[in-house]
Amino acid sequence: SYVLLNDQITERKNVKIDMEDRGYNFGDGIYEVIPIYNSKLFTLDEHLDRFEDSARKLEIKLPYDKNELEKLLHQLKNANKIDNGIIYVQMTRGVSPRSHLYERDSNGIITGFSREMKFPEKPKQKGIHVFVTEDIRWLRCDIKTINLLGNTMIKRNAFDKQCQEGVMHRNGNITEGSSSNIFIVKNRTLYTHPASNLILNGITRQLVIQLARKNNIQVIEEAISLQQLKGADEAFITSTTQEITPIRKTIGDVDATFQIGEITKTLQQSFNKYVEIHCK
Ligand code: PMP
Repeated sequence: SYVLLNDQITERKNVKIDMEDRGYNFGDGIYEVIPIYNSKLFTLDEHLDRFEDSARKLEIKLPYDKNELEKLLHQLKNANKIDNGIIYVQMTRGVSPRSHLYERDSNGIITGFSREMKFPEKPKQKGIHVFVTEDIRWLRCDIKTINLLGNTMIKRNAFDKQCQEGVMHRNGNITEGSSSNIFIVKNRTLYTHPASNLILNGITRQLVIQLARKNNIQVIEEAISLQQLKGADEAFITSTTQEITPIRKTIGDVDATFQIGEITKTLQQSFNKYVEIHCK
């Protein structure tokens, strides 16, 4: 398959990463996952804005502007003839003799791949079980860094407990999922954690908020307590690859069960329609 290496589309076997790449040594890098529907890159602009935002926050110098990056990602998708799936793109701070102290003017390395995949229908229709546990991550979860050990440990834990996602809380407030944002519905109002340093402001999260308001569903961006989760009418997670996935059951620090309710279904339909219109 073809991959992206800086500004070249090349065969994967041609890419060799240096053992002193800061991404390898320190997890010093950023990434994005962009969905492809019907051969169209969906919400590409929003993903590239966030990529730039993560780069700025970590003082990683992007070598190309948004237009150029856009062109390269389209080339990658076309080279692999992807109809439905994802593009993964990441940038590390690049190669330098191993030292915690980073230089601001180093040349980073961009790599990317694309993958044909159909986002599974079953969890979206039948819902999932989630494991609720403490948020053990750092305090800059707003940066989409490749440093994901807190997230991967919680995902492993959740699967070992027969759950499909881990949902985290800090001081009794729900933050987000290991690779998703979380919403609850109470009395037809939608609640989700505000975009702060404690969560990644998901592109799907932002779209769901927009779609909710279009459907006259009130949205309150406020931390959800464990008790609020327990007493919710509906709950769901959102992400690029999981779209809007209902939660049927929580275990761990909150024991609760939920029906897949009207608000969740309305938002799922609204999401599907939005994709259809934008990826014609
Ligand atoms: N939070 C975390 C920690 C994530 O890893 C992800 C998915 N990358 C999300 C939220 C959802 O973000 P998006 O909707 O942009 O995929």
